[in-house]
Amino acid sequence: MSPPPGGPGASRATGEVPAGGPRPAVFLDRDGTVIEHVSYLSDPGLVRLLPGAAAALIRLRRAGFAAVLATNQSAVGRGMITEGRLREIHAELERQLGREGTSLDGIYYCPDAPWDDDGLPATASRRKPGAGMLLEAASDLGLDLAASWMIGDLMSDVLAGLNAGCRSILLAPGRPPEGDDEGPAPGPYLTAPDLAAAADLILAGHAGAMAAARTAARGISPP
Ligand SMILES: [Mg+2]
Repeated sequence: MSPPPGGPGASRATGEVPAGGPRPAVFLDRDGTVIEHVSYLSDPGLVRLLPGAAAALIRLRRAGFAAVLATNQSAVGRGMITEGRLREIHAELERQLGREGTSLDGIYYCPDAPWDDDGLPATASRRKPGAGMLLEAASDLGLDLAASWMIGDLMSDVLAGLNAGCRSILLAPGRPPEGDDEGPAPGPYLTAPDLAAAADLILAGHAGAMAAARTAARGISPP
């Protein structure tokens, strides 16, 4: 595999750019979305997949969505963990997903502490709510952002998706998000209790869109 783009701490695309044009993706927050939230997780032994998360990824990938992790990891920028330890944590996450029969197409993380990107426009910052990690993944993996979704448990996840031109789903609505001071979103988003329910929403809409496309295609095809 070639070195990851973007320099130290940037990211890793685990999949190849497929032939056949851009494909949709589901961008996934990590903590509180795919795995249990542990404040400043630093021990791979504490990685726990959330119930139903792997099954949701299996369904989404089977429907043609790339599954891409996009996670803020300011613990690195704060000096609380090394990037090596972060990679160990992500290797454990991938090991657990593999045991459940699925995987991720890419892992993107932003190691910056919040103060490093103060004042950057939303599209310039890699740190969510900036769109940088999503745009980078779209370039690396050949993704159709307009057909893609961002799922996460903080408003900064919702905003990152909207800033990238995706649709967004906020998990666990009604719970005051810890450390979430992003304010209201500039556009509409959906809510769901967990990743499985978010996948239901996405796949229901996706099936409808595919059926409409097939109908339209039949309408213009020769008999
Ligand atoms: Mg989270």
